[in-house]
Amino acid sequence: MEYVSSRDKGLRVSAAQAIAAGIAPGGGLFCPTEFPALSADEMQALLGMDYKGRAAHILGKFLTDFSTEELTGFAAKAYADEKFGGPDTAPVKSLADGVHMLELWHGPTCAFKDMALQMLPHLLTASLRKTGETRTCCILVATSGDTGKAALEGFADVPGTKIMVYYPVDGVSPMQKLQMVTQQGQNVEVVAIEGNFDDAQSAVKRIFTDADVIRRMNDAGCIFSSANSINWGRLAPQIAYYVSAYCDLVTTGKIAMGDPVNVCVPTGNFGNILAAYIAKQMGLPVGKLVCASNQNNVLTDFFRQGGVYDRNRPFYTTDSPSMDILISSNLERLLFYISGQNDVMVRELMEELARDGRYTLPADLRDKLAADFDAGCCDDAQTAETIRRIFETQGYLLDTHTAVAVKVYADYRARTGDSAPVIIASTASPFKFCGPVAAALGKTVDTTSVSQLDALASLTGQPIPAPLAALAGKTPRFDRVVRKDDILSTLDLLL
Ligand SMILES: *Cc1c(COP(=O)(O)O)cnc(C)c1O
Repeated sequence: MEYVSSRDKGLRVSAAQAIAAGIAPGGGLFCPTEFPALSADEMQALLGMDYKGRAAHILGKFLTDFSTEELTGFAAKAYADEKFGGPDTAPVKSLADGVHMLELWHGPTCAFKDMALQMLPHLLTASLRKTGETRTCCILVATSGDTGKAALEGFADVPGTKIMVYYPVDGVSPMQKLQMVTQQGQNVEVVAIEGNFDDAQSAVKRIFTDADVIRRMNDAGCIFSSANSINWGRLAPQIAYYVSAYCDLVTTGKIAMGDPVNVCVPTGNFGNILAAYIAKQMGLPVGKLVCASNQNNVLTDFFRQGGVYDRNRPFYTTDSPSMDILISSNLERLLFYISGQNDVMVRELMEELARDGRYTLPADLRDKLAADFDAGCCDDAQTAETIRRIFETQGYLLDTHTAVAVKVYADYRARTGDSAPVIIASTASPFKFCGPVAAALGKTVDTTSVSQLDALASLTGQPIPAPLAALAGKTPRFDRVVRKDDILSTLDLLL
């Protein structure tokens, strides 16, 4: 399997090269040139496997320069029972009316980012080895809250790597911040940026393509890579859980093999839902992919108003901070595929986006989007209402991000009458967002202290995830705040 840059198909690399580099020279994203088919026989075989086996199998179809032994070993370590609280790595919990919650937050940092970021360090260090790389790999991460901690946890003290996380100073939840600033490890740095996630992500992307900076780092024996979902090694492990969830619905008799299911994903950078799109292209029986946004609804407008992507709009800080994003990086990969791998068009559209903050898709591509995707958005009040309603009627506690998806999907059903079963990606533990979750249930908690965990637990009767409980008594290690224009100066921390 070969990978090409979404902005230049002449750049062809192996999976290991794509993962080691993170982003393509010139700013494109590496994309597999084809989607491997998932046969009926394979699906049957996957039914009998555990999550680790399913993940290794799906990864093997994309990472053809990795051996089965390697991938099986990586999956065993990445998804070890002691890291995910048992063998049920990504359990499916069924609610009323054919709504199935795919819980992706049982890992060490209590958000779905663990599903990929527990795997990525294994893939990246193997990729560096395979490509003969001996320099120190400096991983730069822009985070809207959850990627940062998951990447720190995945890469802490991994030999040959250093990791630097940039988070928006006022754009993450108190729990997310506490998780990051108390991170242990000799090779980790955490910096707050005065700006929002888009500012952090754009600054990091500029560093990756700045020839002077790259030369300076190279002289110091370092190369850059990325742990954001622009890295193919982040995206590939995410495909597996959609396949796994489908298998679970079959083995528990909720659906028959071959039945179509819809998928709804609370979306920010468009990585998670793109993984579901790829699973569909491989042959997983998926109907509609419903893209759910909070008040930062640039994607809702894109899908529902004729393919105009326009980030020239207010940026809102919401109760679902990990979705507070106006430049969804992975949409670039979707454009590449729906255009029949038209790298020239993608490059032009991305240049327009960088220059004008907007672009318009050609008409024929808008129709293609509509065949696979639907979209919707809701505000904080509707999110809170949904948390309360689902808890009161079904005893199931949603976090603020997942609640956006549940609300948007209910709207989608009411609007279209589509009654197919749905897999909704449940992306974080509600205990990461105690303040707004408790408020939705009518209680105020003090979010300046870890006692918020106990407060939410006694309010809801739900157990506190062990990794969050363990934060009590940990001392913050990082307090640096820089202006977004001064981000370059922080690179010295890596040397
Ligand atoms: C990152 C994140 C999202 C958005 O996922 P994307 O892949 O960026 O679209 C949604 N919910 C939570 C809790 C997240 O951490």
